[in-house]
Amino acid sequence: MTEAVTPMMIQYRRVKDEHRDKILFFRLGDFYETFFDDAELVSRELEIVLTGRDAGNGSRAPMAGIPYHAAEGYIARLLERGYKVALCDQVEDPKSAKGLVKREVTRVITPGTVTEAGLLDERKHNYLSAVAGRPGGGYGLAVIDSSTGDFAVTEITGPAADQDLLDELGRIAPAECLLPAGMAEAGRVADDIRGGRLRIPVTVRPELEFQPELAAEDLRRQFRVATLDGYGCGGLPAAIGAAGAVLAYLRDTQKSDLGHLTGLHTYQRSEFMVLDAATRRNLELTKNLREGGRRGTLLELLDLTVTAMGARLIRDWIERPLRGVESIRRRHDAVDEFLNHPFMRKDLRDYLRGVRDLERLAGRVAYGSANGRDLLALKASLEQVPRVAEVLRASGPKSSALADLADRLNPLPEVVALIGRAIDEEAPPAIREGGLIRRGHDPRVDELREAGRDGKSWIAALEARERERTGVRSLKVGFNKVFGYYIEVTRANLESVPPDYDRRQTLVNAERFITPELKEKEALVLGAEERLAALEYELFQAVREKVAEDVPTLIEDARILAELDAMAALGEAAAVFGYVRPSIGAAGRIEIKAGRHPVVERVLAAPFVPNDTLLDRENSRLQIITGPNMAGKSTYMRQVAQIVLMAQMGSFVPAAAAEIGVVDRLFTRVGASDDLAMGQSTFLVEMVETANILNHATADSLVILDEIGRGTSTFDGLSIAWAVAEYVADPARIGGLTLFATHYHELTELEGLVPGVTNLSVAVAEKGDEVVFLRRIVPGGTDRSYGLYVARLAGLPAEVTGRAQEILNSIEADEEVRRSRRQVAASRRPRYITQLALFESKTDPLVEELRSLRPVEMTPLEALNKLYELQEKARRGR
Ligand code: ATP
Repeated sequence: MTEAVTPMMIQYRRVKDEHRDKILFFRLGDFYETFFDDAELVSRELEIVLTGRDAGNGSRAPMAGIPYHAAEGYIARLLERGYKVALCDQVEDPKSAKGLVKREVTRVITPGTVTEAGLLDERKHNYLSAVAGRPGGGYGLAVIDSSTGDFAVTEITGPAADQDLLDELGRIAPAECLLPAGMAEAGRVADDIRGGRLRIPVTVRPELEFQPELAAEDLRRQFRVATLDGYGCGGLPAAIGAAGAVLAYLRDTQKSDLGHLTGLHTYQRSEFMVLDAATRRNLELTKNLREGGRRGTLLELLDLTVTAMGARLIRDWIERPLRGVESIRRRHDAVDEFLNHPFMRKDLRDYLRGVRDLERLAGRVAYGSANGRDLLALKASLEQVPRVAEVLRASGPKSSALADLADRLNPLPEVVALIGRAIDEEAPPAIREGGLIRRGHDPRVDELREAGRDGKSWIAALEARERERTGVRSLKVGFNKVFGYYIEVTRANLESVPPDYDRRQTLVNAERFITPELKEKEALVLGAEERLAALEYELFQAVREKVAEDVPTLIEDARILAELDAMAALGEAAAVFGYVRPSIGAAGRIEIKAGRHPVVERVLAAPFVPNDTLLDRENSRLQIITGPNMAGKSTYMRQVAQIVLMAQMGSFVPAAAAEIGVVDRLFTRVGASDDLAMGQSTFLVEMVETANILNHATADSLVILDEIGRGTSTFDGLSIAWAVAEYVADPARIGGLTLFATHYHELTELEGLVPGVTNLSVAVAEKGDEVVFLRRIVPGGTDRSYGLYVARLAGLPAEVTGRAQEILNSIEADEEVRRSRRQVAASRRPRYITQLALFESKTDPLVEELRSLRPVEMTPLEALNKLYELQEKARRGR
């Protein structure tokens, strides 16, 4: 890098040295300039011309600049790509500066600390998180939405803490994660956070910032409390450490006093239904499987909210269904109320439409970055509050949830009045250029405006006056930045210029003059404008500071409005889509009458066929679902999962009736996987996900297994599927509720062999050669796949399907023998043994031979021959 020697370059280097890991935007006049490597990066990423600037000693520094008023768009693009930006501004007036203007970094913008409205998606939270190690294992986790001040901590412990941490971070999907230096270097967890599926940008921070005692002291000072016990994190040092790191980082980046951070809350993962990453993905809660967008997701369906805050909250509810029976019922009560009072719902939603993003507006007031328009938006939002409360009261809500929320709303009339009095309705976005303060708010503002206006009208009338006096019709009065106001006379008329004109500038065809009186008025006009801008800024700041005193109340209001919006949206969904209130009870039983898949029923052209479900821990905890391809097995199982999830997030459900026993964890293991792109074998991924389920499911869990074991050879697959089924059905192991769809019809034999297992199948009708899918789930198993039928439908050559039919017939002929042998095996071995007990012990030569086969390298004919050969050996051996 070139040694910089001009004074400005020295100043630049000094600042840049403190912000090496960021792109430094260095304010020069109306531009933010970047230099050296930053310039090259910015020019590449933003497609901006790379220029250069004299750096002294004869060398040039590479330079790329953007106009400061357009900076936001460029910064947004850099953040999106994971870069951080430091803004270095002029902190004194260039006019009064002696020598080099003083410059300082006034704001650091990183993906997790953005608060600017233009850089945020308003329907989504933007989280910053921090992870601290816990002595003795486990983690402390802190999460904040820095634009709203929503701050939460938890601790994650236990043998699966690493996986649980990754799951939790996967759910939160923070824009940035802070890690202590040691953890960041040490390895695996840090790598998993940065890479893999999560891909969360990691920022490494000094170990000291995560130190619990220092963090606790810092937090106490910030929240102005003597102890943190009131927030529920008193005994959680790692959580406190993480929270302290968040606070330190925010202070470093925002460079303001963070007045809205007045507390935090501690949560336990056990308050919420646990959904691992695979389940969240498979159920298409907020992203679809196809392209990761919103289409076809539960969020798209249920997000009928009308405010940005409501939209963020309902997303949160979908991602974190509740587990407490009372808290779920509280939401259902409110939704019930909204469903049964359509006019109240409509009025409420109409008023809420007038509410802007109060939560983030309050955040900007606290950061001191709110402008005049923000205050007006805040006022407009607060004006809806009494109307909202009135609507709720007028219809006399029976639901204690709604009554309680209505009572807690605070319309802050003083704030509304203050903003109404002080801020001009036409306030511009800039806050230093005047035009902000309303007439009548401060006599000094009015006087200065008057003076300015007088001067201006005097000047405006001057042209006519001077034309009259000199007789020069082409005489003009104009203004430019260098000479101020002037009188311009063309060369041809110069002889008519009166003696009191003082020449200032000569142009090709004209001369420009001033008069003492003109300069006097000019001073009045310009001085008034300047003083006015300064005074208005000062008054505006005073208003903003006054409003800032009520930020905690504003945020409380914002959260109540968000909750009302989300509940009303669920009421709207229940009304529009025909949902019913589920009854909520203790874990272990799920009964659904005429349930529907909430998303599929909306997109299907044909009518959706509803189905019943009865899962019960005592008698029918594992249901094996067989049925042809395309029959509707996956749809049915996902529908049960979706209905349970909807019920626990507080929504009504697509069914005629439903009784839901609260589920602690919901797992889905579904066929196709998108991991191929990430270089993992499909089968390996399937097994990793299955292992995760078997290691974490409890008797209170709901497990959805779709075609376990499909990705490997038939015998391996069947054996694994069988053993998994036994394991989940066994109360000594898991014994929760499981739906298990499979093409291995052999699994239907588990009914009767293993307690609690029942068979279901999807009904089909055969009309001659045709198969009609009835989409109806009926008791009992099936032993036909109709795979050949589907193959025929798909247009496989008749020769191939014909030959396949022959092979199938001969294989089926041996089925009876195999069946009796399996039954012997099943009755002999412990139920949850995971070896290949199904086909003899580990050392059996037949099994060994089977094991050594490489089916993928064989032609179908070789495989078939081998199969016959093995079968012969087996027959002879017994
Ligand atoms: P495969 O075994 O081949 O994976 P599957 O049995 O899991 O198939 P699904 O994918 O669930 O079948 O369903 C296939 C299609 O059938 C769905 O895309 C949907 O269009 C339709 N379908 C499923 N269930 C119903 C239903 N209850 N009512 C109407 N249509 C349905």
